[in-house]
Amino acid sequence: MNLEQTQAVINRGETLRNKLSAQLQKQSKQQLRRVLTPQKGNCTRAYNFSSNDYLGLSQHPKVIAAYQRGLSEWGAGAGASPLVTGYTTAHHELSEALSEWFGVERVLLFNSGFSANQGVLQVLTKAGVTAVIDKLCHASIYDGLGHGFGERIQRFRHNDYEDLQNRIENLPGSNCPLIVSEGVFSMDGDRPDIFALSANKGRGLLMLDDAHGIGLASPQASANELASGITSKGLARGECGKDNRGVFAHPSAHEIDIVTGTFGKAFGIAGAFVATDHQIADSILQNARHLIYSTAFAPAQAIAIHASLDILQENNHLQTELQNRIAYFQSLAAKLKLRLMPSNTPIQPLLVGDNALAMRLAQLLRAEGFQCIAIRPPTVPKGTARIRFTLSLNQSQEALEYLFIALDRILNADQELADACQLR
Ligand SMILES: *Cc1c(COP(=O)(O)O)cnc(C)c1O
Repeated sequence: MNLEQTQAVINRGETLRNKLSAQLQKQSKQQLRRVLTPQKGNCTRAYNFSSNDYLGLSQHPKVIAAYQRGLSEWGAGAGASPLVTGYTTAHHELSEALSEWFGVERVLLFNSGFSANQGVLQVLTKAGVTAVIDKLCHASIYDGLGHGFGERIQRFRHNDYEDLQNRIENLPGSNCPLIVSEGVFSMDGDRPDIFALSANKGRGLLMLDDAHGIGLASPQASANELASGITSKGLARGECGKDNRGVFAHPSAHEIDIVTGTFGKAFGIAGAFVATDHQIADSILQNARHLIYSTAFAPAQAIAIHASLDILQENNHLQTELQNRIAYFQSLAAKLKLRLMPSNTPIQPLLVGDNALAMRLAQLLRAEGFQCIAIRPPTVPKGTARIRFTLSLNQSQEALEYLFIALDRILNADQELADACQLR
């Protein structure tokens, strides 16, 4: 390379760095710059209102003991991708137990819910489906659809089944629609109407991402019911404890062709699954690059997940406790007239609206010792920044009460925030 060429290379690097730096500055200005905050061990867990470890299983003695047993038996890692030698009897037993519990033909294991969604959608999009997805679907679903499939993606308004029906009716006759929605919407905590989704399936396929539902309450409650206020009373506490299989407990579960879910939330660990029939599972296994070219999760992890599964199947008091917590949270929020979004799941978002105000509230709560993360665009639509409270049995009842004392104090001292967060 001569001097001139070297110069050009350096300058290109510099140009790129300048571009990145401008982007970061813009994000700072819009209050959209994200930061990593290391958690300090166990001491802060009780005051963390932004964790998806709903039942506290990440801390459960049986799960921890199973993980340790798995480590002794198998060592620390799987050592290869699943199709090479990374798939062990520990993985297989987990997969079989899940298939049986879900009532499906096959369960494939993935390293994360993100990769499971991407993998499945890439395979099906390449095979020629037209994805018809709820606008509020998770980033991993969007990413799975990739670029260059623009004409084969339709987005329907959130839980709007008329819009869904119209879009499906207007597809060219040769297109196979793949309806994609979520069992519990991650940023809103509401649910779809699975009857309505399956009624629209027609000649196509239906896929649900149940990342936030699996291991928790059955989704009997539809969005419509929620809107009419039936469910806050209707989905009784006991019912959720009775069946913890998320969307698989729904009467129309057999209409769902593919369910993806994670072990990182109610299961308290990490990893993910795709539950489907033999044929689709086999196609995913042959073609999903996330599965083929990625090291399998550790066998010890499979054993720990299996221990979480055993706890979830026991139908124990944890579910009831969580439901009690949700009801208690809602009653305290009602006393403060907080603008909670309608949800009967452990995801309880407080709508703030403005990015800067949402950040301010999160920071004020943080100063009081609470972790309540502000969720901003592009994760949620513009103008709907919110504090996404998630309830978990790691929190103490006391912490919950303190949280509302702190909120009361903060809103009393800050009229602008009070106007944004409280109903008149
Ligand atoms: C968390 C989440 C995922 C990703 O799961 P991971 O196992 O954490 O990668 C996918 N979909 C939804 C709806 C989620 O909330």
